[in-house]
Amino acid sequence: MSTNRFLLKGATLADASSADVLIVDGRIDSVSNQISDAAATIIELKGSVILPGLVDLHTHLRQPGREDAESVLSGSRAGAKGGFTALSAMANTSPVADNAGVVEQVYRLGQEAGLLDVFPIGAVTQGLKGETLSEIGAMADSIAQVRTFSDDGNCVSDPLVMRRALEYIKKFDGVIAQHAQEPRLTVGAQMNEGEISSILGLKGWPAIAEEAIIARDVLLVDHVKSRLHICHVTTAGGVEIIRWAKARGINVTAEVTPHHLLLTDDLAKSYDPVFKVNPPLRAQSDVMALREGLAEGVIDIVATDHAPHTMETKECEWQEASFGMLGLETALSIVQKTMVDTGLMSWSQVADRMSTAPARIGRYLNQGQNLAVGSAANLMVVDPSRVWTVDRDLMASKSRNTPFHGFELPGVITHTFFNGLPSFMDGVLLESGGKS
Ligand SMILES: [Zn+2]
Repeated sequence: MSTNRFLLKGATLADASSADVLIVDGRIDSVSNQISDAAATIIELKGSVILPGLVDLHTHLRQPGREDAESVLSGSRAGAKGGFTALSAMANTSPVADNAGVVEQVYRLGQEAGLLDVFPIGAVTQGLKGETLSEIGAMADSIAQVRTFSDDGNCVSDPLVMRRALEYIKKFDGVIAQHAQEPRLTVGAQMNEGEISSILGLKGWPAIAEEAIIARDVLLVDHVKSRLHICHVTTAGGVEIIRWAKARGINVTAEVTPHHLLLTDDLAKSYDPVFKVNPPLRAQSDVMALREGLAEGVIDIVATDHAPHTMETKECEWQEASFGMLGLETALSIVQKTMVDTGLMSWSQVADRMSTAPARIGRYLNQGQNLAVGSAANLMVVDPSRVWTVDRDLMASKSRNTPFHGFELPGVITHTFFNGLPSFMDGVLLESGGKS
């Protein structure tokens, strides 16, 4: 048995066909029926689905600065367990990833962890302050070759700064990922503005605060002919604006998080800050519009917005608690539950929304290839017929702030292969797996 030849037998592929997959020296060697290879490690996968390795365009890894909440290594472990072969590390670290030094540090830490690709995102503005552009060109030219820029956590609210950023990134085919939150309309906001916020007496976060920025930015990106990505869309109105923009041929893509596909602002009634998130959980009508938008392709991708926080910042009064939820280890199960088991999407569409499309938006060349012969063997295996119960104490993440603790979810991930070697197999993380 060889350590660089793996034969995956009898699984269903994303397109619903059944085939064997042979991996040799890190690449997909062949995909066809009844492959035999006496030298390969054989893995029987009848009843399971093989998808291309999942690609997250929106992950908070917290390093440098908040390694008590997450690190590049612990986040990579959570990612590999969740079926991911690539993560995009958001720039709101401490110090902020607004220069080549920090993005190169994060990139190297990802390589050292070796469990998946870590692609750093660069800040749009210095210190995420929204005033002066960061060292965008230096980050693009660095070894991390940053192509995605975002002030996520903050909105680039100044339209002139946003215009300059959109213009600047054109020369290297970059993209600005906007956290759409009009700051003046959300001062002190704690949850979705609506019936429940008035019952609870918590300051509301109106849908228009998100939609006004999405509308402005699709017009801006059309004007300067650049590339715009909208982070975590949460409102039916936001989906409508993006649908309109795409119909006009405007170059915009958008993401939805798993938690916004399932949870609603009703959960705030518990006053449990595990449900406090930015942007906030919305109404059931928004959830249904987001599902439709994702199925239709108006929303291009699912991104986790994995946001680890320590106990101290989450297990306190709602008003004081940090915004954010874990996402990597539950993402695929939530998508299966909300989109596949409901008949809204096929596994082939899941492969697109969670791997191929995010890899295309981020310009991640070795990702999202979906078992193309000769491509890097980045793939994952899920058994959709099995269920599991989420236990926050069994997570690979350093933090515990999952809103799904105790949920019984469909879809057990059994394998993740990164560059041809298992990074996660039968419940075990293989730390040296990716270091081929
Ligand atoms: Zn955000």
